[in-house]
Amino acid sequence: MEKPNQIDTEKYIEKIERSNLELGDDGKELEYGRAWFRLGKSFDRIVREKGKITIDFAGFSIEEWFSDVRDDPDFDAGVKKLEKLILRDNKGKTDVLETLSGVPDIYYDPKPLQFDGGALLHLGDRKIIFIHGDISVPRNFIILLHEIGHFIDSLNLERLGVKSMMTEGDNSEIAEMIRKERMADAFVFKVMRPFVKDKQLKDDIHTFINEGSLATYYHGAKKKIADQKNST
Ligand SMILES: [Zn+2]
Repeated sequence: MEKPNQIDTEKYIEKIERSNLELGDDGKELEYGRAWFRLGKSFDRIVREKGKITIDFAGFSIEEWFSDVRDDPDFDAGVKKLEKLILRDNKGKTDVLETLSGVPDIYYDPKPLQFDGGALLHLGDRKIIFIHGDISVPRNFIILLHEIGHFIDSLNLERLGVKSMMTEGDNSEIAEMIRKERMADAFVFKVMRPFVKDKQLKDDIHTFINEGSLATYYHGAKKKIADQKNST
């Protein structure tokens, strides 16, 4: 039985199979590598004050307000808690966290690691978003928005009283996994699109998201769908 708002798994799987999102050939990989590098550079137009970082891009700025985490057994020294996240241009501003209700506390560890990343974590009965990496680096800022996007999606599932948006059937888990990633990325674009006018930055964000983790997810999904077909 299809519940309201549910998505037809079979049709969604067909769409995944037809999609040209795939792990890249050498050319695409090079393009991805360049976007990854540019989005990993720390910007020189960055102002660090006590409890606040301001990053100036062409035509807009990002303000990250944070506090130091002290005496919290769940976290290492140096971990920060994000208090406020504001995108601003000459037309106005978006206070990202204020416009969302129920977003869990967000923590980040700015110490550089070889691989940055983020996750929605459960620490006992405490739910948090944790980002490994300095969120004043654009790449990590995108990861942060992606994780918030996952959280908003999970709230929506809760509200609808479903575990998945997909109708039951073969491959429904694969379809749901791809849908979740797309929703998280859609949130990144939704927040950033009104502010990003610079073409290079716009292209880099697209490339970083589409040719990076999303292509990897599609690659895995397509392989599983093909295996499933071969086994039946
Ligand atoms: Zn994700």
